[in-house]
Amino acid sequence: MQIHRINAWSDNYIFLLQKGNHAAVVDPTEAQPVVNKLNDLGADLIAIFNTHHHGDHVGGNRQLLAKYPKAMVYASEVDRGRIPEQQVFLNDGDMVTFCDRTAHIFFVPGHTRGHIAYYFPPVTNSQPGELFCGDTLFAGGCGRLFEGTPAQMVESLSKLRQLPDNTRVWCAHEYTLSNLKFAITVDAQNPDLEIRFQQVQTARQRKEATVPSLLGIEKKTNPFLRWDHPALKATAKQQDPTRVFGRIRGMKDMF
Ligand code: ZN
Ligand code: FE
Repeated sequence: MQIHRINAWSDNYIFLLQKGNHAAVVDPTEAQPVVNKLNDLGADLIAIFNTHHHGDHVGGNRQLLAKYPKAMVYASEVDRGRIPEQQVFLNDGDMVTFCDRTAHIFFVPGHTRGHIAYYFPPVTNSQPGELFCGDTLFAGGCGRLFEGTPAQMVESLSKLRQLPDNTRVWCAHEYTLSNLKFAITVDAQNPDLEIRFQQVQTARQRKEATVPSLLGIEKKTNPFLRWDHPALKATAKQQDPTRVFGRIRGMKDMF
C-alpha cells in the first residue's frame, strides 16, 4: 500500500492510499485535488475514510461519490447524520479492509464526540504501522476540545500512545512548527524536543512537510502525550493525568 499526501486549503493534508489501480482517500477536504491525483495514478476510488464531521475533513465527500459512485463512505457511528453520504457506521474495535490491508478502528472522542482513528498495523516487523488520526493527535500537539472533555481526550490519546514507536502518524494538518513553539514553553528541559524543534524549523524554512511523524518521537516530545512526565506535571502544577492534560491544553488555547 502506497500513501500519497495531498495539500488542501491552507494547511490540511488529504491522504490517498493506493494499491495498484485501487485507491482510498482519508478526509477529503475537497474533491478536485483528489480527482487530479487519481487521474495521475490511473486509480479508481473505492473508499472514503472520514475521521470526523468537520468540513475540512468531509468537504469533498459528495463530489467524490458523484464521480466514483462505487466508493464506500466510512465514518463513526456517533457521527451518523453529520457525514455527507456516509454508508458504513464504525465503532471502536471494528476492522475495515482496503485491498490486502486491514485497519483497526479506535474511537477517540475529544476534538469531536464521534472522532475515530484508522490504524493499519505493519504486515512485517520491519515495516511501520500507519495511523490516520485526523485532528486527535497532531505532530507536536493535539486537537482542540470542541465537543469533549480532557478526561475523554486523555483516554483517546492513551489508546494511540499504546501503539508501537514505529508507527507513522498521518495527522490532518501542518501545525507542527506552531505546536512545537508552544511545546518548548511547557517542557523546556527536554533535549529531544529541542532537537526536534530545530529540525522542524529547518524543514519548514525549506517548505517541507513534517507529516507523517513517528509515534516514537511523539511519545518523547509531544506535551499532550506526556501527562505522566514530571516536567509536565511541574508546569501544570498538577499530578492527576486529566488535570495535567487539561491545564496544558488550556495553556495552548491561550498561547
Ligand atoms: Zn476538526
Ligand atoms: Fe481539521
